[in-house]
Amino acid sequence: MSRVKRSVAMTAVLDGLSRQHLLRSDRQEDICFCLWRGSKGLTRNTALLERLILPRHGERNVHGNASFEPSFLERAMFEAAGSGAGLALMHSHPLGRGCQKMSNDDIAAEQGNAGAVFGATGLPLIGLTLAGDGAWSARFWERTTPRTYPETWCGSVRVVGDGLRVTFIDRLAPIPRPTEQQVRTVSVWGHESQANLVRLRAGVVGAGSVGGMIAESLARTGFEDITLIDFDVVKKHNLDRLNYATPRDIGRVKVELLAEFLRERATASTFRVEPVVAAVYEEKGYRAALDCDLLFACVDRPWGRYVLNLIAYSHLIPVIDGGIRARSNRLGKLAGADWRAHTATFGRPCLQCLGQYDPGHVQMEREGMLDDPKYIEGLPGDHPLKSRENVFAFSMSCASFQTLQMLALVLAPLDQPNPGSQLYHFVGGYMEEPKFGACHPECLFPSFVALGDSCGISATGVRPQNAGDT
Ligand SMILES: [Zn+2]
Ligand SMILES: [Zn+2]
Repeated sequence: MSRVKRSVAMTAVLDGLSRQHLLRSDRQEDICFCLWRGSKGLTRNTALLERLILPRHGERNVHGNASFEPSFLERAMFEAAGSGAGLALMHSHPLGRGCQKMSNDDIAAEQGNAGAVFGATGLPLIGLTLAGDGAWSARFWERTTPRTYPETWCGSVRVVGDGLRVTFIDRLAPIPRPTEQQVRTVSVWGHESQANLVRLRAGVVGAGSVGGMIAESLARTGFEDITLIDFDVVKKHNLDRLNYATPRDIGRVKVELLAEFLRERATASTFRVEPVVAAVYEEKGYRAALDCDLLFACVDRPWGRYVLNLIAYSHLIPVIDGGIRARSNRLGKLAGADWRAHTATFGRPCLQCLGQYDPGHVQMEREGMLDDPKYIEGLPGDHPLKSRENVFAFSMSCASFQTLQMLALVLAPLDQPNPGSQLYHFVGGYMEEPKFGACHPECLFPSFVALGDSCGISATGVRPQNAGDT
């Protein structure tokens, strides 16, 4: 169960536009509205900010404290209701730093209008305060009984752009106490970065060799909240690659075993790991992924990758993906082994544009064809769906690359959160020049940004029989 039950997320573009409007050069407070879309996780509801509604002349008054005219609220409610979105009210505390408390005027403006907004949109009013240092605080005003709209504070507000910047409400997600085990880690990047890093809820999708190693590195680094998503059990032929399994564990559910392994190795003083026995394309696995602030894609199948790709853009949860491909020649000797790592997120190319899955194969997997041994047998020997060659060392390196992508995204050392799309060749021992860029112009995923559950795509479904057996 996540301790963050409500959250808000936005793109860095929307964050920038809000700052431009709300943080005035004359240092007075200002105000505006914003449309939002829902993203419903298993235990966390997130409001994804979609579009600002800025005041027109005469719709608001700036006088130290900002206030708005009823006509501004009416116009904003009309726009929200017309597009099926929720409504958020934003204002600034230009002299404030970090999380902001609410004044009586703030409470009156938000709680006092929560009923009208709920009546117009069917959704709770969200209130947001922007401090002068760019920190966001947010709350949901949810109807509990008729005419009662108490506030529920958001544990986190994340801004997703080239980097991932999250403001936590310290009351709900307390600054972690440094532990003795973490001294060497914290000395590398300092307490503040550590607190921003380890309070993120990280999801590892796929508990194979790469997922197991990433999860271990998260637990040792001090992450406090980890979600593990996989439906498979440990088999004998996994034992050459699973860092967390022994011969005694054959037949055990991977995520449950991995969760036990992590609990013994976690360095955080409070550590929660949530094993979710499901595929990410099943409703339960999908909703569990939506509880996370960032996700690692450690799946090798197209459907899971497709679902994660959708989550990265429509739900604003960065997905750090990777993959290993090994080839042998006709003599059965190793001819090539490559692995890659990249982060699918707002402003960067998506997994489909990076060629990480073939959309045609997604439908085939949904129909169970990819789990039909006869179908797989009929494919040419070098077909990506057939290639299962892998060794521990390749997984280790790929897991490391993916973890480093995440660290760059969050820590942004020297303001460099984006190492680009990376590809390493074992044969020859070199890394290609990293690639930067965006989705192809005809790609649909950028058009789903921040639409959440209203993106109109139903990506989940029923797990095919025999899934994972090939
Ligand atoms: Zn205020
Ligand atoms: Zn794309």
